[in-house]
Parts: sequence; C-alpha cells; structure tokens
Amino acid sequence: MSNEDTCFRCDSNRVISGKTLGHALGAIFRPYGISGFKWFGPTRLFLSGEGRACLDCGLFRSDVDKEKANELFEHWDLPVPPH
Ligand SMILES: [Zn+2]
Repeated sequence: MSNEDTCFRCDSNRVISGKTLGHALGAIFRPYGISGFKWFGPTRLFLSGEGRACLDCGLFRSDVDKEKANELFEHWDLPVPPH
C-alpha cells in the first residue's frame, strides 16, 4: 500500500478517497491571517477536486495549487510555523 493511502497523523491505512464539493467552483480554503484593508489580491485557495479522509482520526486532506498558495502567502505576509 502506498503512502497515499496511509494517514500521516495516525498511520492508519483506513483512508478513503472522494470528491471535494461545496461550492459552484469547488471547495475553498482561506488561511488565518487574511484581514484588514488589503482585500485586493488572492484571498482563498480552491481545493483539488479530490480529497482523502481517515476513518480512524478524521484527518481530511486535499491539494491546493502550490503557486497560488505561495502567491497568497507572500501577498498577506502570513506566518509560517518553524520547521
Ligand atoms: Zn488518521
């Protein structure tokens, strides 16, 4: 079984795949830290059309566009946890 099917939080292999829905164009992720008056520029990221959910701990994961995520991060000067 590949890593794709293993939960990275609890190591369970009881992970199911499915579609992400909830909006006409797809599901949206908006990071914390977007506030104030800079409402021009990117404010949200669309989730990939697919996601995975862990049956043991409930962790859900999907993908966002990496380039757009970095664009948004730089525009809002968002904090990133240290490695
Ligand atoms: Zn899990």
